[in-house]
Amino acid sequence: MNNVTVIGLGEMGSALADAFLGAGDQVKVWNRTAAKAAPLQVRGVALASNIEDALNASPIIVICVSSYEAAHEILADERAVAALNGRIVVQLTTGIPKQARALEAHITAAGGRYLDGAIAAWPRQIGTSEASILVSGATADFAEAQSALGHLGELTHMGEDIGSALMLFNAALSYLAGHWIGFSYGAVICEAGGLSVETFGDIVASFTPALADDMRHMARAISRDSYVRPESTLRTAGTDIGRLVELSRDLSIGPAWPSFAASTFQRAMDAGFGEDEHCAIAKTMRSH
Ligand code: NAP
Repeated sequence: MNNVTVIGLGEMGSALADAFLGAGDQVKVWNRTAAKAAPLQVRGVALASNIEDALNASPIIVICVSSYEAAHEILADERAVAALNGRIVVQLTTGIPKQARALEAHITAAGGRYLDGAIAAWPRQIGTSEASILVSGATADFAEAQSALGHLGELTHMGEDIGSALMLFNAALSYLAGHWIGFSYGAVICEAGGLSVETFGDIVASFTPALADDMRHMARAISRDSYVRPESTLRTAGTDIGRLVELSRDLSIGPAWPSFAASTFQRAMDAGFGEDEHCAIAKTMRSH
């Protein structure tokens, strides 16, 4: 059993508090809008009367609010600064690495310790092995917080550089952005072409094992900057993607996504990478 405080009771913060509670932890919560604690209070969670009370209640403070600006605002309160001394603050709000560094400076100046994390999961997955939580910060602090944080999902310690969890999270977000846009655009092609979007979903889902292999293969190629054994060349993929622009005209659907994709491949072909593997487009992305 751990004593844990959760600050922020939005969709994610409430799920975090709920998972701690379900694991038998003693949970104290604080939220700007206190009424959001009501469903948790019914289940035995204690509501802090103010931020100072929230910080004093537990050695481990988990914070998950809508932005780092909001987290700063909460923890810049004079009473909060005084109560941070000796606490391990685990920040699970999504942001970018420099925001983690700035908050770390604030917490450590107040005598606290700081771990920065990123949640790659939906709230409903929290408390299960489907929730992936990346954490960076001092190894000793991670070891101290690990048994409590382990109640939230699968933890990966990304190392001592406080920005590394968010760096990896943002890299994964880049992948997901393409996945979400590409899938939605494919669904719109099906709608406009009179095909079942659900069938499209089933067929694309069946690609998943091969896509996992492709990801590992691309990671090896890009990290070695070696793209010399293409099964399909960048030119072949680029030519096919170029035809998506023409299809968008035929179907009278928005051309922005295929135009962007086609121009990305065209730029790599213009740079002379047409006979390399498709992921050699990375070579055109490393600088402006
Ligand atoms: P949310 O439901 O919109 O909740 C936002 C929380 O932030 C609320 O507790 C809100 O308090 C608080 N807040 C906002 N501005 C504040 C301020 N100035 N001072 C004090 N509290 C403030 O958001 P969420 O879905 O829980 O997301 C929280 C974080 O988790 C985000 O960084 C998000 O990217 C990350 N995340 C979410 C998901 C997801 O699926 N939801 C998945 C992965 C990561 P009030 O209740 O008083 O408004």
